[in-house]
Amino acid sequence: IKRNPGEPEFHQAVREVAESIIPFVLENKKYQEAQILERMTEPDRIVIFRVTWEDDQNRIRANRAWRVQFNNSIGPYKGGMRFHASVTQSVLKFLGFEQTFKNSLTGLPMGGAKGGSNFNPKGKSDNEVMRFCQSLMTELHRHIGEDTDVPAGDIGVGAREISYLFGQYKRLENRFVGTLTGKSLEFGGSRVRTEATGYGCIYFCEEMFKSQGESIRGKTVGISGSGNVAIYAAEKAVELGAKVLTLSDSSGFIHDPEGIDAEKIAFVKDLKEVRRGRIHEYTEKFNAASFHKGKRPWSVPVDIALPCATQNEISGEDAKTLLDNGVKAVCEGANMPTELEGAHAFLNAKILYAPAKAANAGGVAVSGLEQSQNALRLSWSREEVDSRLQSIMSDIHENCLQHGKTDDFVDYVRGANIAGFIKVADAMLAYGVV
Ligand code: NDP
Repeated sequence: IKRNPGEPEFHQAVREVAESIIPFVLENKKYQEAQILERMTEPDRIVIFRVTWEDDQNRIRANRAWRVQFNNSIGPYKGGMRFHASVTQSVLKFLGFEQTFKNSLTGLPMGGAKGGSNFNPKGKSDNEVMRFCQSLMTELHRHIGEDTDVPAGDIGVGAREISYLFGQYKRLENRFVGTLTGKSLEFGGSRVRTEATGYGCIYFCEEMFKSQGESIRGKTVGISGSGNVAIYAAEKAVELGAKVLTLSDSSGFIHDPEGIDAEKIAFVKDLKEVRRGRIHEYTEKFNAASFHKGKRPWSVPVDIALPCATQNEISGEDAKTLLDNGVKAVCEGANMPTELEGAHAFLNAKILYAPAKAANAGGVAVSGLEQSQNALRLSWSREEVDSRLQSIMSDIHENCLQHGKTDDFVDYVRGANIAGFIKVADAMLAYGVV
């Protein structure tokens, strides 16, 4: 805390990992003697820069942007860019730290990074977003590259922003290479990348139920968010026979007791991805649904909760409400959506609780597959990418079992932390004092 003042999100992420890793490190002296955990909590480097751009009224605006290159022991840095007013160095350090473990879990050769800006894309025109992205890339391009650091999307950075960023990168570098992922299909994107985080989250959830001789078919599901992760988690859950009851955005949540089916999801896709509207508009179209302004969806009783919006969206109190209402599984689509007190409550209740670094690794996994396709100058079919995604999620589940299974319970948090740690730690040991 003294070394990183004013970084509560980063402290929280490190504390959660340290709770499982410290006992493991104490049993394995080689890691302790080499100070591996201390070294892993210090980013390799952070680049901070000003992004100056002009708005539609010709006013000059200045934002701050960062790229946190956390750890490249097992591959080039990899991780998304987030554009949101709440972005700080602490948020990006927590995300970069988590990303290192997550990328290791995928089994692909990717180091951990994260970046972004406190730029708020809400209410900005396409032209303003373009000018911002171009200005940001004018600095960022010096620090990234297909074998150095490969950024992708995150909150506020979707297909539109990646296109502007890649267009400017290509222009500055005069090279067409896979330095960004999440690109559109016409210029090097991978099939299933858009869907990958949400789909992967459901594949992981299904693996957890399968290991108990159950399935998500027929179960009720509460989802927060209505962005990229939430929409495709809903789509896959419905496809596998579950009933999705809620979605949300930062203004509140909608509850549809009749279930949010494929047709309603198509409406939400158009609302959020094309029209950039607000979630309450759902209730104007589908009358059975209600809108709960300023609230999060955790008061609605469900079998499965999928937080897919942002960090710390399930408080200790929310976790208690979910448990009192009989929740059987919580699978984190968003990064660190559960406060530490809530995570402890889920672990103590011994429900199926999948932490983000395992449950949402599908997105970065398919980004890794996009890098492979770019390097090969090939484009794999939807079936090929989807089946690789399924097997990666199933392998992550297996790894969590290996390190998290006890007599009567699987501690997925411990399993994911240890499995992610070992590969990075062993690489760092092999490199010696670096
Ligand atoms: P999007 O920008 O597509 O969607 C974010 C959603 O969450 C929106 O509905 C947004 O509402 C809501 N939201 C964002 N911030 C807040 C907030 N402070 N309070 C309440 N609601 C909020 O982002 P993604 O779906 O891509 O990302 C969601 C989460 O998943 C993040 O934690 C991200 O790090 C994580 N993730 C994403 C991956 C990806 O592939 N995209 C990969 C792995 C993890 P509104 O529109 O009102 O802002």
